[in-house]
Amino acid sequence: MPDLSIIVPVFNEEGSLDELHRQITSVESETSQAFEIIFVDDGSSDKSWNVLKKLATANDNVQCIRFRRNFGKAAALRAGAAVTSAPLVMTMDADLQDDPAEIPRFIEALGDDYDLISGWKEKRNDPLGKTLPSRVFNWMIGLMTGVKLHDHNCGFKLYRREIFDHVKLYGEMHRFVPVLATAKGFRVNEISVNHRAREHGVSKYGLERLPKGFLDLLTVSFLTGYNQRPQHVIGAIGLLSCFAGTLGIVYLTIYWLLRVSFEAYSTWPPLHERPLLIFSLGALLLGTQLLCMGFLAELIVNRNQESTEPYTIREKL
Ligand code: UDP
Ligand code: MG
Repeated sequence: MPDLSIIVPVFNEEGSLDELHRQITSVESETSQAFEIIFVDDGSSDKSWNVLKKLATANDNVQCIRFRRNFGKAAALRAGAAVTSAPLVMTMDADLQDDPAEIPRFIEALGDDYDLISGWKEKRNDPLGKTLPSRVFNWMIGLMTGVKLHDHNCGFKLYRREIFDHVKLYGEMHRFVPVLATAKGFRVNEISVNHRAREHGVSKYGLERLPKGFLDLLTVSFLTGYNQRPQHVIGAIGLLSCFAGTLGIVYLTIYWLLRVSFEAYSTWPPLHERPLLIFSLGALLLGTQLLCMGFLAELIVNRNQESTEPYTIREKL
């Protein structure tokens, strides 16, 4: 059985794969550990699969999975994790930007104290248009989720295998594994890693990852904070809105009663000329809608209780 499984998502990386395999193998030969490498071809349209086929045929410890089309990095990592057999799992990009020579440092940093070690591309060899938004993004993740890492999105990470039993990747959630893992009680740390410039092929992500990443961040902070009790956040806003609406309506009711009962107040403008009426009704409607949505969310959580445990266990004696 291997000591370490290395998952490599591959999307049009034909120029890098042979060299990456060579570098990983040379690191393996310097350590006393056995590695298995799992390449996941995420629907490449270049010759990546041909290169991988040769690697798998020539090496016992190389496995390859080929998707029918491009499903995204998170899906590729999940498919790789599903076939790992080692207690430790490393993920790294296929483009040679992550340096396999760092693998022993990851293992050392994990020790007994941590469950996930995330890479930090401290000296990043990417254009400024990539590094600057990334800084802002990492700062925002730290602020909203409390998980403070310099480089959440780094693809170079070491995990204990069981993390993948509890954190199921989909969409573009690969950016948030440290956050999702922390929410399940796993201990996360980071080490600074050597980062190299891309030599072959092109980057698969552009500026569109910013709005997408931000929306995912909102989802993740909601899911990690209120996954088990959505009504506590949706309902709280709903209640607040209902309360404001009710206040407005009560005020307008008294106003109307005074206006029709006493001659002195009959010069007050009629109700339909009071904008507060529309605001109050809007707030009441919004509030009740939110409360109903909260109950629907609770219903979903309640139904899921049978399949997901609301806890994770570190050890049993
Ligand atoms: N990747 C993938 N599927 C995709 C996009 C990217 O498997 O849809 C892989 C890609 O082949 C690489 C890794 O994810 O191994 C990171 O991609 P890239 O280097 O383009 O990202 P960047 O380093 O520019 O952030
Ligand atoms: Mg890259």
